[in-house]
Amino acid sequence: MAVPSERARERAARRIRVTGIVQGVGFRPFVYRVAQSHQVGGWVLNHEGGVEIHAEGSPESLAAFLDELQHRPPPAARIAGLESVAVPAEGFDGFSILESQKTALPTVRISPDLPVCQACLRELFDPHDRRLHYPYITCTDCGPRYSIILSLPYDRPRTTMRDWPMCPDCAREYADPTDRRFHAQPVACPRCGPNYLLRIDDRVLARGEDAIVEAVRWLKAGRILAVKGLGGYHLACDARDAGGVQALRERKFRKEKPFALMVRDLGAAQRLVELDEVALALLGSTARPIVLAPARVELPGVAPDNRDLGLMLPYTPLHHLLFAFGAPDALVMTSANRSEEPIAYQDDDAFERLSGIADAFLVGERPIARRVDDSVARAGPFGPMILRRSRGYAPGAVATLPTRRPILAVGADLKNTVTLVVDGQAFVSQHIGDLDHYAAFHAFTETVQDLCRMYEVRLEDTRVAHDLHPEYASTRYALELPGERLGVQHHRAHIASVLTERGLWETRVLGFAFDGTGYGDDGTIWGGEVFVGSLESGFERVAHLRPAALPGGDAAARWPVQAAAGFLTQLPDLPNLLVPPIGFPGRYSHARELVVKGVRTFPTTSVGRLFDTVAALLGFTRGITFEGQAAIWLEHLARTAPPAQPYPFPLEGRELDFRPLLAAVVEDRLRGRDPAEIARAFHEAIAQAIEQVALQYAEGEGIRYLVLSGGVFQNRLLLTCVRERLTAYPELAVLVNREVPPNDGGISLGQAAVAAFAQH
Ligand code: ZN
Ligand code: ZN
Ligand code: FE
Repeated sequence: MAVPSERARERAARRIRVTGIVQGVGFRPFVYRVAQSHQVGGWVLNHEGGVEIHAEGSPESLAAFLDELQHRPPPAARIAGLESVAVPAEGFDGFSILESQKTALPTVRISPDLPVCQACLRELFDPHDRRLHYPYITCTDCGPRYSIILSLPYDRPRTTMRDWPMCPDCAREYADPTDRRFHAQPVACPRCGPNYLLRIDDRVLARGEDAIVEAVRWLKAGRILAVKGLGGYHLACDARDAGGVQALRERKFRKEKPFALMVRDLGAAQRLVELDEVALALLGSTARPIVLAPARVELPGVAPDNRDLGLMLPYTPLHHLLFAFGAPDALVMTSANRSEEPIAYQDDDAFERLSGIADAFLVGERPIARRVDDSVARAGPFGPMILRRSRGYAPGAVATLPTRRPILAVGADLKNTVTLVVDGQAFVSQHIGDLDHYAAFHAFTETVQDLCRMYEVRLEDTRVAHDLHPEYASTRYALELPGERLGVQHHRAHIASVLTERGLWETRVLGFAFDGTGYGDDGTIWGGEVFVGSLESGFERVAHLRPAALPGGDAAARWPVQAAAGFLTQLPDLPNLLVPPIGFPGRYSHARELVVKGVRTFPTTSVGRLFDTVAALLGFTRGITFEGQAAIWLEHLARTAPPAQPYPFPLEGRELDFRPLLAAVVEDRLRGRDPAEIARAFHEAIAQAIEQVALQYAEGEGIRYLVLSGGVFQNRLLLTCVRERLTAYPELAVLVNREVPPNDGGISLGQAAVAAFAQH
């Protein structure tokens, strides 16, 4: 250590520690540049838990330095904390970037994947740049992170770039602290790095730029292309080519579920959908999610029965090249899989699974370390809402919890995610999928192991939180793990997920958990639950939907008419529903017989099934082909009608009684009322029921927060109705999910929170 020089006495010095996402995102070169510009001396190094800085200079220059540090960090950095203490000056003249003395602790957050930045894009299309049209151009501000990391710390030999040694030019940039590519781990160029190639069967048709040009020709000719992206393969075709879209549906066995689109730019997006400010911000955010927004045009086959389109902007250099080389303005860009299987991300697996679907493969040579699907988000009446949390968000920390011990929460079986809590930070995995598919279950076990390995957590030391459902694959997996285990009730986990995101640990709330299905305390299927309580004290069930008997096991969730049989059997004087205008198919009478006899039925309080029942009454009498389809159909139908008087849906004792509601729906339907109006009045009835329960329980208990979570609250119209009703009560605030989805993708976070508080 240098002896403080004469100069040091006129200078002030500070030791600064910055935590958050500050490694692998160009933070040290940024600090270096800021220090240079303010004549600040000292050093910066990657430190366990973040970045440490020694800065000295005049008090004014130090203040300016600190200000810029906090307020103008690199785009990919996320500062979680900045501590600065005064220390003696040591007389540093220059500023330097020191090598890390220790390897970083694993809890230094791994950055999510990032979209290509403006500076790289300019170079991508600069005829004089050595990376002109190079699909793997990247710098410290942009590009792949989570999807290329094999292990920590984040260094090139531990990424999927390890097989490409840098050429002298790239190595120079990598080593130069003043360069945008200083320590950019995936840095490469056409001379030394991976490239793309176009493959049909076993033949390589073209490489590099030619491959992309040729791929565009195929897209323009109406062909289906498998395109390797950041976290997996996409299947792409021209969104305006109805024949191509139809062919894709048939080959993918995807009958009706909407396809996501990738559009050339914001202008193209605005021609297709209506974008408010929140939706625009989501679309351009660094996560580059698929954003659902009201459609302005009809694209046949893209999103049947749906008034929204889901679209995203290009986020890799390759995507920009496709559009620049003339690809149609709007491409279907859907996860490359058959039906509900996990997305393909390894080349051999992709060739095998997609050979009957894709006409050609645009294959990138850089391997993908783990599958990371596109995220899905939407603007809603209570702000942005994430419906699928994956690429661009994962594996970021979403909350802190008061626990020293690691917790693994394995989530639910639908829309599975897992959460790992390390040093009190909750890391939520990328979307994994529905675990009843073997391949998805395999992906689930891989993800658990992957997260534990990266954060250096031993399963023996963790507390494991799981759903109460004994048949869930995730539950069975958890029960075989060595650590201490805790079952967490599904709907309490939904409510807990919202409070955890907001750090509301002690606040008592009134929580509404409405969804399709979840295992209840009493072993029946819940889904219309109201709780009072807090994370610290736990949640007491205070009200719920009146139970209905559902016939036929799992099929009741796949056939809205079967749910209808369960609910409608409780209505006296039911007219013949097998004839028009209702015209239920024979499946209904068979199911009704089971209910009447009490054979193979199970009780449920599921609001999701109530939505199905009303959808069936209004014409959705076929089976569903994806989860939530009938409820989405009902919402989109209702959106075409103006506001309507709610149907009666009274709270009787602790039960919301659906009988007057359904009787009114049936009557209106027989009278010939417009189904859209009926659907609208039904949505208003659910919102009014929430209002009614809020008045009953919140006022008396001095509760100021309503929490809404569960898949039913993905319904934008329902949220709008709730918001409008509650404007009359300014003392009540509504909280919905912000960081994780309200659907079962948020369950693992809620489980982790309940487990953290159960320790006290
Ligand atoms: Zn860049
Ligand atoms: Zn190179
Ligand atoms: Fe749920």
